[in-house]
Amino acid sequence: MALIVHKYGGTSMGSTERIKNVAKRVAKWHDAGYQMVVVPSAMSGETNRLIALAREIMPQPDQRELDLIASTGEQVSIGLLSMALQALGKQAVAYAGWQVPIRTDSAFTKARIQSIDDAKIKADLAAGKIVIIAGFQGVDENNNITTLGRGGSDTSAVAVAAAVKADECLIYTDVDGVYTTDPRVVSEARRLKKITFEEMLEMASLGSKVLQIRSVEFAGNYKVPTRVLSSLTDPMMSLEEETKSGTLISFEEDNHMEQAVISGIAFSRDEAKITVLGVPDRPGIAFQILGAIAEANIEVDMIIQNQSVDGKTDFTFTVPRGDYARSMDILNNTVKQQIGATSIVGDTQVSKVSVVGVGMRSHVGIAAKMFKTLFDEGINIQMISTSEIKISVLINEKYMELAVRALHKAFGLENV
Ligand code: ASP
Ligand code: MG
Repeated sequence: MALIVHKYGGTSMGSTERIKNVAKRVAKWHDAGYQMVVVPSAMSGETNRLIALAREIMPQPDQRELDLIASTGEQVSIGLLSMALQALGKQAVAYAGWQVPIRTDSAFTKARIQSIDDAKIKADLAAGKIVIIAGFQGVDENNNITTLGRGGSDTSAVAVAAAVKADECLIYTDVDGVYTTDPRVVSEARRLKKITFEEMLEMASLGSKVLQIRSVEFAGNYKVPTRVLSSLTDPMMSLEEETKSGTLISFEEDNHMEQAVISGIAFSRDEAKITVLGVPDRPGIAFQILGAIAEANIEVDMIIQNQSVDGKTDFTFTVPRGDYARSMDILNNTVKQQIGATSIVGDTQVSKVSVVGVGMRSHVGIAAKMFKTLFDEGINIQMISTSEIKISVLINEKYMELAVRALHKAFGLENV
């Protein structure tokens, strides 16, 4: 008998009316003969409300107690969903993370799942019950309640699916799948029927917020077939139609000959660029600059070091915009003197635009096409970085939407 995990986001669980619809949908799958595990989020807005309460008491809340509070939203939703299923005549049982248990490390507010005990889940499924497990939460080795970071119930669902060896993990959300780019920027954006796990990982890390990135890593590591689809459709729609909807995150790169070489255009406004000018060109410089930044827990993305002239070079990198001021302080206050740089300059009006596609591996000329498209629009490229399946450029943020639209057209994504 096939085993399916469903995950429902906050919008899908947003009211008792919607929870009743979730129950109808789950019951429909169960009636069709599937063993069902369901992982819901808190009702929409609830986690924000709980965190705001904590901040009213303590602006920088104690992290352990914060997790204790923030995790309660999911406890309410699992209870309500279980009752809604029981009201439909189903046997259902709800478990908080600690009751499964879902074991995590002790990194409060951003804990990582270490193991999931599948014994109770399997026994309940065998007894014909629908099992409901709270997303977002776990328990550490000292029985402290932990949470997995915002959006973490995606990761809970995929991890549970991996632990019980589910045939598929269906992530129901308020969008109907993964798009070639943000439809708010390009109205011709298309829903992708399929995306490879690697592409999804790039899209998620580049700012496409459909899934929490860690859930994609989990899906990849444990080869969990995962589908993103809408929960706002008729819950009684036919199973055949439902299993074809949304976007499947797959592990094969089949048919890429016929498919577009590029699967999507991702972008991020959350960028800032910093240049250290007149750096002596000797071993250890990159380490001294980026080491100081890393020590402050700031993530560096793109990096360029120029060819040196007369023993001096310039060193440029990007950081999240919110970390710009702190990065400049670190560089100006200590690093500059240490390495004898001439000056430090920066720019916060930059954005990153990336084309993503596994088809790049087998096609040449993708970078040239990207750069020509930007040139035709008169857009200057400030930095470039590449991976096997991605090319990113940093440009003036004024031109970001123009760049995304032009690239979407140039790579024919409106016809995907
Ligand atoms: N309720 C949590 C949040 O709002 C987890 C989730 O929704 O995935 O971040
Ligand atoms: Mg979410």
